[in-house]
Amino acid sequence: MDIPNTTATIPQAPPDFRSGFVAIVGRPNVGKSTLMNQLVGQKIAITSPVAQTTRNRLQGIVTTPTCQMILLDTPGIHKPHHELGRVLVKNAIQAIHSVDLIVFLVDSSATLGRGDQFVVDLLQKSDGPVVVGLNKQDQQPPDQREELNASYETLTEDHGWPCFKFSALTGEGLSDFQSVLETRLEPGPYYYPPDLVTDQPERFIMGELIREQILLLTRQEVPHSVAIAIEKVEETPQRTNVFAAITVERGSQKGIIIGQKGSMLQAIGSAARQQIQKLISGDVYLKLFVKVEPKWRQSRQQLLEFGYRVEE
Ligand code: GDP
Ligand code: MG
Repeated sequence: MDIPNTTATIPQAPPDFRSGFVAIVGRPNVGKSTLMNQLVGQKIAITSPVAQTTRNRLQGIVTTPTCQMILLDTPGIHKPHHELGRVLVKNAIQAIHSVDLIVFLVDSSATLGRGDQFVVDLLQKSDGPVVVGLNKQDQQPPDQREELNASYETLTEDHGWPCFKFSALTGEGLSDFQSVLETRLEPGPYYYPPDLVTDQPERFIMGELIREQILLLTRQEVPHSVAIAIEKVEETPQRTNVFAAITVERGSQKGIIIGQKGSMLQAIGSAARQQIQKLISGDVYLKLFVKVEPKWRQSRQQLLEFGYRVEE
């Protein structure tokens, strides 16, 4: 498969724009992935059994009008008891040293444990700035609330790391926390196009696989005026549901893509589905929509949205 070189250009950041890389670290199960998905605003990992085992780092990108933060979800840090554990921990530690800001996440609904102390000892060795997230506030037993929060605050205050309380699951307190992260980043550029939510290429490749089938099956008639947007990817235990919009410029092109009684769209969908199944090594349900957007190719914004390079 050829993956065309169609990376979107990255706009110039406005003055006072802030940006940076933020690692989320903590022992397993404290809610690191939940926090990342909440901040990004959607579940971003398009997982497959294969990808999951090899993936040791996932970036989520949050872009607001004033800031872009790239969040690194890291495997939980724990005292490793086996080789895979050692590798995962090593990767998490590497992340600590290559970011602008570290979020040390704890489960404040549970008593402070040696696992948290282990992470503190590691973080102490890095000289990057650290903020502490007291997660799972919603789950604290009301009568232990103060005691639990205080134990984590005591653990971290020696190091001068400020603590913030929230619930990654309910979202309570998170917008304040996001503002805190933003103010702690330095002025900087866009590292990624503003509409990208992850550096994972699967969505992009899925779109290309669909486009590839359109090129193959409709030949010369439509290809250049077609763009694919992966609207949604849903994982269920049985399969991955992919919803994709095919955008063309004219009604006649829409007719070609849909074909007699939908036969062309069906052929495109069936062939693309098989390709995507290979990509993610799992069962896929693929739903295609066809939209007409006159002159989308002349719209800079839309080109960016579809992931095309836009020359200045
Ligand atoms: P990770 O191992 O640190 O990435 O943790 P996950 O994000 O996978 O979360 C572990 C479990 O904690 C999941 O069952 C989450 O639903 C749950 N969880 C995460 N954040 C919260 C929270 O704020 N409140 C509650 N009650 N549960 C949470
Ligand atoms: Mg996780």
